[in-house]
Amino acid sequence: MCFGTPWGISLDGLLASVLWHRHKAAAAARGEVLTYDPLAVPEDLELPLARCEAGQPWHWMCTFAHTVPTTPYPEPRMRSSRTDHADLQRLSPSVPSTVSDARGHYRKRLIPAAATITATATWRAVGDPGKITELLAEVTDIGKYRTSGEGRVTAWTIEPAPGDDVWSAGHEHHPGVLGRSTPAPCVADRPDIVHGGRSRIAVRAPYAHPSRHADAAYLPAPDEAQR
Ligand SMILES: [Zn+2]
Repeated sequence: MCFGTPWGISLDGLLASVLWHRHKAAAAARGEVLTYDPLAVPEDLELPLARCEAGQPWHWMCTFAHTVPTTPYPEPRMRSSRTDHADLQRLSPSVPSTVSDARGHYRKRLIPAAATITATATWRAVGDPGKITELLAEVTDIGKYRTSGEGRVTAWTIEPAPGDDVWSAGHEHHPGVLGRSTPAPCVADRPDIVHGGRSRIAVRAPYAHPSRHADAAYLPAPDEAQR
């Protein structure tokens, strides 16, 4: 699978994407078009997960994907990208009669994508296993470049883990290793936790929206193979 970040895909993002698609389909059935407005503060979809409100913004109790890559480094895969000529026509009133694929700003180009080669990705969460199972059943591909065939899901397995520590299940890949972006107050009394540094970063879906960002939050620890 291909990630757009040095860490894995968030479980709350995957679950929210299913609900968002369902909302869009329901709106379409009513003859409406539901659009994401980046300037508005997005509403929180009701995910079947517990919330951690130790820091600001609050976050869902679930981790990012933990992978055990079979190669020591991500594998570079080349994709080709071609300028959409019809799109140029829409963007500009004056487009030359020919736009070359071979030279100039708008030539065809190769774009590298870093793929993590792994048989499994694992998340931990505190939530309703039945509802999580039902939502994940609709997720057939994960990560970036799905239309190029990356991130194909063969099967989802949901395993209840009633003996696990609740805080750990919502924050750690395994005890002592941070598995998600986390506001600083969450880990204030855990000085020995392994993490990936500190930065301004989103802590819950939609991760691209500034209202979900926390300053000096802790980043998840990198996968073993990339440490
Ligand atoms: Zn927390």
